Amino acid sequence: MEAAGLRRTLATRAVLGLFLARPAGGLTHAQTLASLTARGLEINRVTLYRLLERLAACGVLQRHTDEQARTWRFSLVLPASPAVEEGALPRFECDACHRQFRLTEASEPTRAVTHDLFAALARLGHHGERMDVSIHGTCADCSESAP
Ligand SMILES: [Zn+2]
Repeated sequence: MEAAGLRRTLATRAVLGLFLARPAGGLTHAQTLASLTARGLEINRVTLYRLLERLAACGVLQRHTDEQARTWRFSLVLPASPAVEEGALPRFECDACHRQFRLTEASEPTRAVTHDLFAALARLGHHGERMDVSIHGTCADCSESAP
């Protein structure tokens, strides 16, 4: 049981390594299998298929139809880290009372911007992990009490 779990972890790492090394274009199931075999990793084609499906289901990989090859093509989804989503929530800090507010309602468009920024970083070969968005100003309470 533990050995199987470890093999699965190693396989997952090897697969992610392949996709990280080739961010554009993606890989088909057959190409992934061939690359892993070339690197000396023995993996059953069904196991690999399930692994790719699982990574696609949890949003690490995305799946496209490859019209020419009549198969699925998998590629890495950026950003890959869930920390990015957490950190992407913008904060507002009042400069008068220094209270902080989380702007949960603004999270969707901010995530899109974050995604673009991380994708731009990735194209330059950098690996972004976290982004803080903070806005400074005067909160509603302080605005009211100002003369
Ligand atoms: Zn305030």
